[in-house]
Amino acid sequence: MINKDFLESLSPVEIQMVHQYIGVLFKDRIKDDTSNFDNLKAEKCPCCGSRHFVRNGHDPKSGRQRYMCKQCHSSFKDSTNTFFSHSRVSYNTWITFIGCEVVGLSLRQEEAICGVSKTGCFNMRHRLYHALSEYQDSRKLEGLCEIDCAYTSINLKGWKRDMPRHSKKRGKHKPDKNHKQLRGISHHKICLLTAIDENDHILFKIAGTREEDLKKYQSFADRFCKKSTLICDEKQSIACFVRKNRFGYDYIPSGSFKSDKGNTLSSINQFHQEFSELIRRKHGVGTRHLQSYMDFLVVTKELKYKLELKKMNTRLYMDIIDHPIFWTSDDICHIPMPVDVYEVYKEYGYADPRSLS
Ligand SMILES: [Zn+2]
Repeated sequence: MINKDFLESLSPVEIQMVHQYIGVLFKDRIKDDTSNFDNLKAEKCPCCGSRHFVRNGHDPKSGRQRYMCKQCHSSFKDSTNTFFSHSRVSYNTWITFIGCEVVGLSLRQEEAICGVSKTGCFNMRHRLYHALSEYQDSRKLEGLCEIDCAYTSINLKGWKRDMPRHSKKRGKHKPDKNHKQLRGISHHKICLLTAIDENDHILFKIAGTREEDLKKYQSFADRFCKKSTLICDEKQSIACFVRKNRFGYDYIPSGSFKSDKGNTLSSINQFHQEFSELIRRKHGVGTRHLQSYMDFLVVTKELKYKLELKKMNTRLYMDIIDHPIFWTSDDICHIPMPVDVYEVYKEYGYADPRSLS
């Protein structure tokens, strides 16, 4: 297996040889119709995980190698239960698509560049986001951490039946009789808890609806190392959170942007700006998918500290390739809402379809 250590152990003349040979290989092996399956190699049985399997003829349709597990006797291919199992898009298209996602293009732009329909791009986007979002949750923030919350509105994009409220009318219109006028909409907002540590690791999570409170912060307490020092505003909820978990702290007094020690919330403020820019560019993001978009922003933001933009697509491809996806495109529209919209909109008096059935 070629890895970084192996390449670094080569002598200058060996490196030159590899360099020349790679050029030839690149031309011969990476073509427009190169399939993602060429990057996959069966290492264990997808059914039982056993590494004892034998070759078992070829697939009549695709001509690809089939294997049979010696333990559970199931038959499989290199591509069975992998990220690319149900994707017919070529290798090059996937690489181009990931590049488009990294720079944040819209579905319409991706459709034009990749030659895949908008629905196809939508599905690819959600497969990609889903595969990348899992690894973040295992990490803890440490050292000096900036912490704050941002807010965004509930967005029911893509919602087809049982709307929990009336559709909003855009532009000039008379007030809707059925739609009670309510003051103060803060509980219609979604609270996005954000923290960035000194190593630029980012925590960016939907914490619920309404304003931030101790409970929201506390649900992410285990994502911070015990010895962390939090840089934050003088807010009651954060102060309680800091005391309860015995974190160090550095408060920024209200009316100032800097603490006495000279710390600011500039990284978080910049990150929140990038987030609003992303939402604007995507023409709004449905709340159902909001966390996926947030996760992808975190992944790319963290990678940008380490890698050049043009190298990020291959790196992300390598990250998703081992990640099996068991859902189909139909499931994307049915993933659960991260917040209870029926509870939020209950003042409008709509029946909750869950209680009817
Ligand atoms: Zn098996």
